[in-house]
Formats: sequence, structure tokens, C-alpha cells
Amino acid sequence: MKRLLSLGHDGPSRAADSAWQQCIRPACGATYELKSVHQRCERCGALLDVAYDWERLPVPDRLALFDERRASSRHPLDYSGVWRFRELLPFADLDKVLTIGEGQTQLRRTDGIAAYVGLGPGRIFLQYEGLNPSGSFKDNGMTGAFTHANMMGAKYAACASTGNTSASLALFAGVSGLLKAIVFIGSGRIAYGKLSQALDYGATTLQIAGDFDDAMRQVQEVCLQTNLYLMNSLNPFRLEGQKAIMYRVLEGLNWEPPDWVVVPGGNLGNSSAFGKAFAELHQLGLIPRIPRVAIINSTGADALDRLVNQAGLRWNGGAVDDAAIAAFYTQMDAEKRKAHTLASAIEINRPVNLDKALRTLEVTNGVVRAVPDEAILDAKAQVGACGFGCEPASAASVAGARLLREQDVIGRDERVVCILTGHLLKDPDATVGYHAFDDEQLRRKYGSFGVRHARHANRPIPVPDDIEAILRVIRQL
Ligand SMILES: *Cc1c(COP(=O)(O)O)cnc(C)c1O
Ligand SMILES: [Zn+2]
Repeated sequence: MKRLLSLGHDGPSRAADSAWQQCIRPACGATYELKSVHQRCERCGALLDVAYDWERLPVPDRLALFDERRASSRHPLDYSGVWRFRELLPFADLDKVLTIGEGQTQLRRTDGIAAYVGLGPGRIFLQYEGLNPSGSFKDNGMTGAFTHANMMGAKYAACASTGNTSASLALFAGVSGLLKAIVFIGSGRIAYGKLSQALDYGATTLQIAGDFDDAMRQVQEVCLQTNLYLMNSLNPFRLEGQKAIMYRVLEGLNWEPPDWVVVPGGNLGNSSAFGKAFAELHQLGLIPRIPRVAIINSTGADALDRLVNQAGLRWNGGAVDDAAIAAFYTQMDAEKRKAHTLASAIEINRPVNLDKALRTLEVTNGVVRAVPDEAILDAKAQVGACGFGCEPASAASVAGARLLREQDVIGRDERVVCILTGHLLKDPDATVGYHAFDDEQLRRKYGSFGVRHARHANRPIPVPDDIEAILRVIRQL
């Protein structure tokens, strides 16, 4: 393998010769040119990966070499928390990279959450992806897909979204002026913070009379019938960008892998990207062992949990039991089971990246769990009280870590990273409802989500407009 002793600013050269797209099912393995657009494998319909011939690419021999770039981030590509790792996603023509400074996020040791989860000090780290420019981790992937779209000369891009993908796409389109963004949203409960972003950044917004899965189906069809470039996490170039979240986690731990990475699971793009990142780093000899990945559903949107833990579905080296998946969805439709969770970012019936998530579970010896919305909101309040806060879906990671510790799946001395996928301000309704409502109001508003009591509510205190009364309250604190 070709090695570099130090990293310059030039990054990988002649990427196009050493990168291509490839069907993830080994039995098919069809390959496609890097500079071509396919939603899925044209031969078998499976998902596609971006694949590399690492032997022909310059790769550093130690991850610590990336530290130099963080120290001097004046170069625009080094200012990006994605592209300063460009040797590890070497598909881009560097003059086509579109970055808006994504990935300037933080890994923070958070002992208060460690205590909540049932671990000692120094055992829990929170990766705050809400600090991205559009307020969610989606920006890590969007810079990858936008760069590929730019390499393809695309003029229009579209996505279906529970909110954050559309916010991110709209922001990248607005800043770059390169593409016009068209976002498809369902008519369910999109959080207002997210909808406001798509509208304010100027994206054309189509509100489909249906849910997220309907919007997802329609946008794929529209992209097939037109020249719109599809920006959903079906797009393998998005997942290349999202690998960088794991590079930054390792960086934050001084390149020493944690025992666990816990991540909420919706369309399963993130968990898929994390597994690919670790598999590649291990193959390249850059990490000594692979962390275990725990994917957390809401019990109100638990397709992966049921498929893995009840139906026993596995990646199985790529020989996935497609009949079992089909039977599962047939039964789901027959029972009219629909995803229903306050964690709207993971309110998904048919996760698009199912195959790749199964592969992650195999590669990382991972697990899947589902946690109820009430536990998610309790965990969310704890995160807020200990740090920068997060939106409901993000807190599934902390609630999931707590459950896994209770079950002794996470051991008492293990080091755990929880991914906080989106910013607190994305969904102020959920936060204010949790803190300000009494149990009766909670039951009325969130009863159907199983939220009956807010264990960690921080209620506003009503006081009269009277100095003596105010002082009485203050003195009692
Ligand atoms: C998109 C999103 C998720 C789900 O991530 P997947 O990659 O689709 O599994 C979770 N949390 C937030 C805040 C999101 O925006
Ligand atoms: Zn194929």
C-alpha cells in the first residue's frame, strides 16, 4: 500500500481511477462508474456503495497525522470536519468540493449523563452533531452528495425528508447557488424548526398528502423520470460524508476507539456509514479494533428492532433473507401498523438503508433496541441539563445506552459515545410541552405516544407582577 508520511493540502490525486460505485450484495457485485448516477443497482436492485482501490490511493499510516490539519484550518477544505479527512473518502474532484464549514462539532465527556446511564465518570461522551450549520448531522452527508452532484453537473436536486435532510439540502443549495433544491415532505408532524429552514433558505417545498414513506417513494420516482439529482441517504455519496462523524469521534478520543457507539436509527444512513467507516479503518490498519454499534429505534417506529430481534434477520455475509423482509412488510401493511413517535426524525416505516445497517451490525458485532417516547424525552431533558441539548430523536441514543446498561449489554467499565444527531431548537414544541405541561395536559397532547409523566420537567413558575411575591419565590429556591 502506498503510504504518506505527512498530509499536504493536495489530498488524494486522480481519485476517479481508484473509486467507483458497487452493488453491496456480494452475489451481484455489479460496478458502476464514479461519475454516473444510479439510485440502486441496475442489475439486482440492491443498494450501492462507493468503493475504493486503497492500494492505489495515498492513505496516512497513522490517524494522528490528521491532527496537523486541525491545528491549521485556514485552508477551506481543512476547515471542514468532513474534508480534512479527504484521504478517507477519496472520491471527489477537489475543485468540485462544496463545503459550508460542516462538521465543526464537539465530542464532550459528560459525567452527568454517565451517571444517568449507570456508568462512572469519564465513561460517556456525547457527540454534538446539532452544532452543524443547519443544526443536524445531515450536513456531513450533504457536502458529500453535493460534491458528487457538482461533479455530475446537476442543476436540480431533490429529497424526501422528515425535516433535517430538507433543511440541509436547502442550506447547501442556498449558499452555493449551484443547484435548485426541491424538497418533498409528508403532511405529518414535521417539526417547525426544520420546516422554517427549508422555507427560509428558499427551497421549493412540496408537501405531499401522505407520510414520509409516501414522500420517499414519490421523490425516487420523480428523480427516475427527470434529471433531478436524488439527495436522500439512498445516495452513497452522502454516507461517505457521514463516515467523518466517526473520524471526529476517534479524534476526540485521541484516536483510541470507544467500546460502543450508540446512534438513533431512522432511515439507517448514519449507522450504515459508521459501519463502513470502521470496516475501512480496520482494513487499512488504522484502528486496532472495531467499536460495537448500537442502533436505537423508538418503540413507535421499530421496524429494525422487530426485523433483527424478532424475525432474526441478519446480513449473513450478504445473503439477506429478502423473503422474510417482504413478509414482514406485508404483515405490517395488513395490520395497518404505522410509525408513530414524537421523535419525528426517526418516524419511518420502511428504512431505506436496511441492508447496509444489517452489514454494520455484522461488522461491528452490533445490537438493536427500541425505547419508548417517554424514556426518550426523559433522556432529552437530562442531555439539555448537562450540555447543549438535542432534539427528541437524538436522545434515543442516551435512552438506548441506559437500557443497554440496565441489561448489562454495555459493561460497567466500557466507554460509550452517544451521537446527538440534531439541535435542541429544531423542535421547541416537544421541549416546551415536556417541561411546561402538567400530567393532564401531557396525557391530552402526547398520550398516544405513551408520554404520561415528565420525570425531569423544569416547570416555569407562575408569579404575580409584584416584587414581594417574586422575592418570596426567589428566597424559597
Ligand atoms: C435523520 C435523522 C435521524 C435518523 O438518521 P438515519 O441516518 O436516517 O438513521 C436521527 N436524528 C436526527 C436528528 C435526524 O435528522
Ligand atoms: Zn446488484
